[in-house]
Amino acid sequence: SAENQPLADQSPAELAAFLAAQQQAYTDLQGKGLKLDLTRGKPAAAQLDLSDALLGLPTGPKDSAGVDTRNYGGLEGIAELRAMFAELLWVEPEQVVAGGNSSLVMMREVLTDLWLKGGVDSERPWSQEEKVTFICPVPGYDRHFTLLDWFGIDTVTVPMNSDGPDAEAVAALAANDPSIKGIWIVPTYANPTGSIASLEVAERLASMPTAAPDFKIFWDNAYAFHHLTEDEAKSADILSLASAAGNPHRPIMFASTSKITYAGAGVAFLAGSTETVSWYTTHLGKGAIGPDKLNQLRHAQFFGSAQGVRDHMTQHRLIIAPKFDEVDRVLTERLGGLGVASWTKPTGGYFVSLDVLDGTASRVVQLAKEAGIALTPAGASFPKGDDPHDRNIRLAPTFPEMGEVSAAMDGVATCVLLAAAEKLAG
Ligand code: PLP
Repeated sequence: SAENQPLADQSPAELAAFLAAQQQAYTDLQGKGLKLDLTRGKPAAAQLDLSDALLGLPTGPKDSAGVDTRNYGGLEGIAELRAMFAELLWVEPEQVVAGGNSSLVMMREVLTDLWLKGGVDSERPWSQEEKVTFICPVPGYDRHFTLLDWFGIDTVTVPMNSDGPDAEAVAALAANDPSIKGIWIVPTYANPTGSIASLEVAERLASMPTAAPDFKIFWDNAYAFHHLTEDEAKSADILSLASAAGNPHRPIMFASTSKITYAGAGVAFLAGSTETVSWYTTHLGKGAIGPDKLNQLRHAQFFGSAQGVRDHMTQHRLIIAPKFDEVDRVLTERLGGLGVASWTKPTGGYFVSLDVLDGTASRVVQLAKEAGIALTPAGASFPKGDDPHDRNIRLAPTFPEMGEVSAAMDGVATCVLLAAAEKLAG
């Protein structure tokens, strides 16, 4: 039998039989009338429930410094929460801003400030540059790319490897072209590959010479504490590395509790040099008098300490790690040995990155859609939605219930096989 033999090695007759079998499997799949959604990395209801003690907090309106959190003021956030996340992010409390509910909004604010005013080390606002370009490790986070596109910022891609962005490629680009102003990196458990930037990669990026004096590393540590195994990766200390290399203003770090407490009502953080922090709050102050300190206070009380955050993340792991195991189990069972797909087995974060046969990712997503399984659009992990190999699909298994994960992955596997058979037999 041709089962589990690489499809590319099968005879035309075997391939024709395989195609017919997959067409039948797909018809059966459509007959199930599924309605499943694996598009976005959202916490499941059971994960949100872990934080419901927040609904009864804070116990009073004053923070431990005696600040009445009901009132205006305190743009940089309340001291006790800044200190807690400074410890978690390996920076000093005065290097941290605790803000509103979204780190993505903070990233957009920083880009806007750079655009309109320039950074602490800029010669002029970025809007006055002839051209601004960002380096984008791919596959990456779609919202980074759409935000750059919205600004009219050009993008140049580098490969995202298992130890982070291809640092030599980044250094070569940044060294020669002054229009290259920055890079966006998800250093820990990257979206969607799960990659972890190594200390060596971080060191290279922190210290590399750049043609632009105000080159920025947007260090988006959205998944810093989101471990899927007991082996907890520690993010490289990018601020210290950059500071030691004489580039203290290069990195700006972002994080949030969106996938720690509530995705819609958490607290977001920015960290950087103290100059960067006052640069950010000065611009912020033109449109805000203070953040939602009450929400910050209830978060501080809910966690109690940095260790409280780590312990809370263990509860998340116990809920979602089995879903990631299930993705791997079903894909291995259905696709193993056929040479038509490879996928990541992440040790943290929210995604599995699935590479299918070149030229078939869009077809797989379309087939899945027509069978009632919504996947992130093919190409979404690339700037302008353009995956040059039409190969990558991002899977987000956290939100669906376990049974739905199984059904969805089984369906996706059928679509991967049908698309591959169509391509190879056609
Ligand atoms: N950064 C990355 C890499 C993400 O994957 C996400 C959400 O999926 C965000 C940022 C959004 O963060 P926030 O909810 O803090 O805006």
